[in-house]
Amino acid sequence: MEGLAEEAMTRGSNTVQVDGLTIQVHGGATPQELAHIQQALQQMPPGARQYAADIYLNENLGQILSAEGRPIGGVGGMAGDPGMRMVLDRKELRSLGSSRRLIYHEAGHNADIAIGATNKAPWGRTGTSVSKYGKTNAKEDYAEVHRVVLQDWKRYQSMTPSQWARESEALKKMEIAQRYGAKIPDQAEVEAAANRFNRVWRRGREMRDSWNPG
Ligand SMILES: [Zn+2]
Repeated sequence: MEGLAEEAMTRGSNTVQVDGLTIQVHGGATPQELAHIQQALQQMPPGARQYAADIYLNENLGQILSAEGRPIGGVGGMAGDPGMRMVLDRKELRSLGSSRRLIYHEAGHNADIAIGATNKAPWGRTGTSVSKYGKTNAKEDYAEVHRVVLQDWKRYQSMTPSQWARESEALKKMEIAQRYGAKIPDQAEVEAAANRFNRVWRRGREMRDSWNPG
């Protein structure tokens, strides 16, 4: 992280403004890269922007070797830094969609460091996540759930108990959504909705199972 950040600084620094917050972007960013970063931050919940306020751009992060000399394939970014910095592979900034995906994941690592989220359940204990990569470990689980919630932030801000009852990894998503100010229903209401949903689903299945073609 240190070497990458220093290297980016030699190529020049810019700032972008998001609702009065100044975001530092190091690495000689193009106007398009700055625009994608600005829009991605604009679409984040305001409380999450502090975790993406110091950005360093590099080329070919995927070529970087680990401390043991092992190539780290397909790495799009790095974060989880006490200084709340993040390093992004600029290939991922070519479109707004991939910029959002990467920034929301890396901001999740910084948020995790800041609040110590993954020191406790449910992170990484269940062996499930919102993506294959999220199953790697508790930290990637947190970063991936963070990404998914932020990518669909409008919807996660005000979901009903029955919508939450149908949601995968609901407890994890609720923890993140609530942290950024979403209205979260009572756990009991969600459980009641889940029971109703399961009853209806089971009845439907029993009816199918009892069908006898004769
Ligand atoms: Zn990650």
